[in-house]
Amino acid sequence: MYELQDVSKRFGATQALHPLSLRLPTGRTTVLLGPSGCGKSTLVRLLNGLLIPDTGRVLFDGKPLPRDTEALLPVRHRVGYALQGGGLFPHLSGEENVTLMARHLRWPAARTRERLATLVELTRFPADALARYPAQLSGGQRQRVALMRSLMLDPDVLLLDEPLGALDPLVRHELQGDLRAIFARLRKTVVLVTHDLAEAGFLGDGIVLMRDGRVVQQGGLADLETRPADPFVTRFIQAQRPVPGGGVVA
Ligand code: ADP
Ligand code: MG
Repeated sequence: MYELQDVSKRFGATQALHPLSLRLPTGRTTVLLGPSGCGKSTLVRLLNGLLIPDTGRVLFDGKPLPRDTEALLPVRHRVGYALQGGGLFPHLSGEENVTLMARHLRWPAARTRERLATLVELTRFPADALARYPAQLSGGQRQRVALMRSLMLDPDVLLLDEPLGALDPLVRHELQGDLRAIFARLRKTVVLVTHDLAEAGFLGDGIVLMRDGRVVQQGGLADLETRPADPFVTRFIQAQRPVPGGGVVA
């Protein structure tokens, strides 16, 4: 679905991404994993054309992403995006956040209503909370609204930037399970960002481990564990603290 060829991005003196090449397979969930500041969000924003690479190109369906906003629009409609922190509009209700794009595209009301009902069922969102504003929703509910919003136009691709950040462990655990079920049901091309190894292994068909604007290794969790490409891979894996007395903290 996506192919990046020698893509790099710099902000002033910060080389957020060094030239990197990457393929993100269609219909699979790829997890971008790595410590804070390694370039995960920058990479996601290059995938939906919010950022333009300094070098190289991003191919979507075999064609370079257009650079001008007008030509980018049809692509944007095929790519759902939930930005880090959810990015909900605080002055819009949950429902208004979810249906924003549909209204912008002047969907008939019946079509919007039907799609909303589908999404409420899919994400197990309490329908009676749709009228609430983001500040009146729990963290988990806000994430479900952000997920519904990214899915509203039934995109081919779903870009989820730390959809489970800043949630308490129980809510996070429940949402991880729901997300995995949703990905399996929809079979979309998903790119999900996290810095949590267990979450990456649980949700991802494949993992792209990043560090300092570079891809250190791409593969399954087992590849990272048994065939680390670099000592950093092993350090990153071992940095997941075990529970004293047994088990491993997710
Ligand atoms: P991550 O999502 O992995 O935490 P980011 O992609 O957000 O990392 O950031 C990578 C690096 O680029 C960081 O050093 C960050 O401070 C820098 N950066 C990201 N966006 C900008 C920006 N718009 N302006 C300046 N620096 C930025
Ligand atoms: Mg980020």
